[in-house]
Amino acid sequence: MKSVQLFEMTYPEVEDALAQGFDTAVATFGATEQHGYHLPLGTDFLWGEALGYRVTKALGNAVQVPGLRIGCSDHHMAFKGSLSLSLETFTAVVSDTCKSLATHGFKKIVLIPTHGGNFRPIAKAAESIRPHIPEVNLIACSDLVSFMQMLWQVAADYGFSPAHTGAHAGENETSLILALRPDLVHMERAKAGFVGDHLAIADKIMANGFKGVTENGVLGDPAGARADIGEAYLEAMTRYFVNQVKIYS
Ligand SMILES: [Zn+2]
Repeated sequence: MKSVQLFEMTYPEVEDALAQGFDTAVATFGATEQHGYHLPLGTDFLWGEALGYRVTKALGNAVQVPGLRIGCSDHHMAFKGSLSLSLETFTAVVSDTCKSLATHGFKKIVLIPTHGGNFRPIAKAAESIRPHIPEVNLIACSDLVSFMQMLWQVAADYGFSPAHTGAHAGENETSLILALRPDLVHMERAKAGFVGDHLAIADKIMANGFKGVTENGVLGDPAGARADIGEAYLEAMTRYFVNQVKIYS
């Protein structure tokens, strides 16, 4: 098949793909939100859609759905340019996308959040959609803790602590964008933000926003970020999500 990205395919190609057993759809859910002084607002969908493509190819019988580029980012609204969907709108978009895919005969739909604030909403949305599309195996990869632990494992291989690699615009995401879009990374402006236990302050962030814990919008420290480490993260994340699909298939 020439392409496995829905936006590049014609409808007869989608028909052929389904007939050939390409009946899994992979959708990523990113964000447009601040990522410190040095990373673009599109960070989460840039690495998210690159990851989604790799997962799609690795699954082998899948097509990639255009990723959602705006997510649940209320906690970033104190920073200019951030966009946010309400939980209601987000759920409706996820739901209508899944119902469309089910209508066309996709048998498995894989939902991958690539922004921290989308993990819980994805889990909730999937719960509400499942009864409406019982013929579909709807897999919501919404376990934020195991996802972070997998990233920390890679970070440790390169000598970075969880606090340094970070949960937002730290070494992890800076390495990812250095690997994918180095032209959009401003290392000369990069500064550390909150460097502590990110999981411990997660509820506080969701309740009061990022500004309350990090003045520049960063959780972690971008120092030491490198493109080859970003590539290692992409490989590890691809393995992780392919494995999640296997577990729930
Ligand atoms: Zn991010």
